[in-house]
Amino acid sequence: MSDETKFSVLVSLFNWMQKSKSSAKKRSKFRKFLDTFYRNGDYFSAIRLILPALDRERGIYGLKESVLATCLVDALGMSKDSEDAVRLFNWRKGGPRSGANAGNFALVASEVLQRRQGMASGGLTIKELNALLDRLASGECRAEKTLVLSDLIKKTNAQEMKWIIMIILKDLKLGVSERSIFHEFHPDAEDLFNVTCDLKLVCDKLRDRRQRHKRQDIEVGKPVRPQLAMRVRDATAAWKKLQGKDVVVECKFDGDRIQIHKNGTEINFFSRNFLDHPEYEHGMSEVIMQNILVDRCILDGEMLVWNTSTNRFAEFGSNQEIAKAAREGLENVAFDILYAGDTSVIHQSLKERHELLRKVVKPLKGRLEILLPNGGLNAHCPSGEPPCSMIAQSVDDVESFFKQIIENRDEGIVLKDLGSKWEPSDRSGKWLKLKPEYIQAGSDLDVLIIGGYFGSGRHGGEVAQFLVGLAERAAPNTYPRRFVSFCRVGTGLSDEELDAVVTKLKPYFRKNEYPKKSPPSFYQVTNNSKERPDVWIDSPEKSIILSITSDIRTIRSEVFAAPYSLRFPPFVELVHSSNGTTHKGTGTEAPQESKPKRI
Ligand code: ATP
Repeated sequence: MSDETKFSVLVSLFNWMQKSKSSAKKRSKFRKFLDTFYRNGDYFSAIRLILPALDRERGIYGLKESVLATCLVDALGMSKDSEDAVRLFNWRKGGPRSGANAGNFALVASEVLQRRQGMASGGLTIKELNALLDRLASGECRAEKTLVLSDLIKKTNAQEMKWIIMIILKDLKLGVSERSIFHEFHPDAEDLFNVTCDLKLVCDKLRDRRQRHKRQDIEVGKPVRPQLAMRVRDATAAWKKLQGKDVVVECKFDGDRIQIHKNGTEINFFSRNFLDHPEYEHGMSEVIMQNILVDRCILDGEMLVWNTSTNRFAEFGSNQEIAKAAREGLENVAFDILYAGDTSVIHQSLKERHELLRKVVKPLKGRLEILLPNGGLNAHCPSGEPPCSMIAQSVDDVESFFKQIIENRDEGIVLKDLGSKWEPSDRSGKWLKLKPEYIQAGSDLDVLIIGGYFGSGRHGGEVAQFLVGLAERAAPNTYPRRFVSFCRVGTGLSDEELDAVVTKLKPYFRKNEYPKKSPPSFYQVTNNSKERPDVWIDSPEKSIILSITSDIRTIRSEVFAAPYSLRFPPFVELVHSSNGTTHKGTGTEAPQESKPKRI
């Protein structure tokens, strides 16, 4: 039966789940669907479409909204300048007829598709859909992907295509958590997924809901969902939470979480989203082979780039950037060990795991370091720099460690209960993180709003973020006339506050239609397309000044025209118009802000 189940059946389930408000009803409807259509137990073919973000069997599509828009325009044979094509390219703001759908790519696409596809279901089966999605993921160029999309369009109606687009974008917005889906499928599904990150295996192993599965431990070669840190506001809150425990405080490194799995000569680097990163092999495999002293092992840590000229870790965190640097100075800081020899050690205390880490890894300066309160990376810290890890005896120890870390321009600190075991996907507070962006470490900076970006989802069709600029020094007794783009400030204002700023600026928005154009002459920006806002503010005197407070640290910026940008998103303290009057949020005027607020 399941082989021939039509995709339209799943679409009816999706539509129903999306409309229903009750989580319990959504769950039971999902169960009924499985019991009716999947009695033979081939659950994976349907569940991978319901939890697309967890499916690692077919690789990545390489299709985010903008590329998907281009492919759909080609697949539908539309001219790039046609009204519908422009609507797809500008999906965040929508067109005159799609105001309500703006910000939701799948809805905008389905509106465009409705005008071209019939109402009747194309009769596509779930099996056929999976095969086409496999082809879409393996397509090597845009043209191949476009062909698959046009095939899909022929075999579906606009409703079905809308859901397929959501599957491709890996977000179904069904209003039901991944945990609920797992629990409804099988009581042990989530646990098994956490230690294997293998949806197919979970679906195949747990076919019988009544048969409980013995808790499985982690295995070398299978990524495990990482232990996570709970956010705390300050050192006092952190200390209170870990009261009575032995506590280690560690530097929070600003790289990418990586699990290194060594199985003899086979080495895998799994990211937080359980993707394998073979690009790290080139820089790291030899180091791992020579410096991990056991045959089989899993290390948990952070992948960073060591800058040999400054003798510091480089400031960035994206996988791509790290990959680019892979040939230069990749460095792994292992802060935990999960498996050694032939045993999982996650059930041992952190203190015991630290000892094991010391025995198993021979550190190599600048390439593979271990983070321990005594020894390890601490021994390699440049003189005069604070240690990277220490045992805290009091809240004062935590405070002063945190202060040193901030002064040293690091990302923050992580506090860990030394008696705790390592638990996959746990964020219950065994690890706590404290970051400087929650305090006002920086001084205020007045910046001018020079552009706006359309939001998505709830903020679709409206400006929801701003591009801000710094004034170039003006001649004595004159107002500044030129502004250099500085950073982007994001969401975080309450809806009313955002609304007030947008309402005030709206009359002065100058649309920056696709393809994006140059800014008004008052603004200096780079050629980087990431910086281009959707609207420019007509002229500086019509705009609003934001007074922002941020973490003291800046980063070198290639995206914005100013050579430095803020390392963390800033807080907005108050908003006033560029003629100097401070608005305290009356009516539709700028918002009232007494306390600094992050935007
Ligand atoms: P953030 O954006 O703050 O890094 P996150 O959601 O990615 O948060 P969290 O679990 O909240 O992840 O914070 C822990 C993250 O911090 C880890 O995933 C890891 O990448 C990073 N990290 C850096 N240094 C450490 C450390 N010493 N111990 C644990 N995690 C660390």
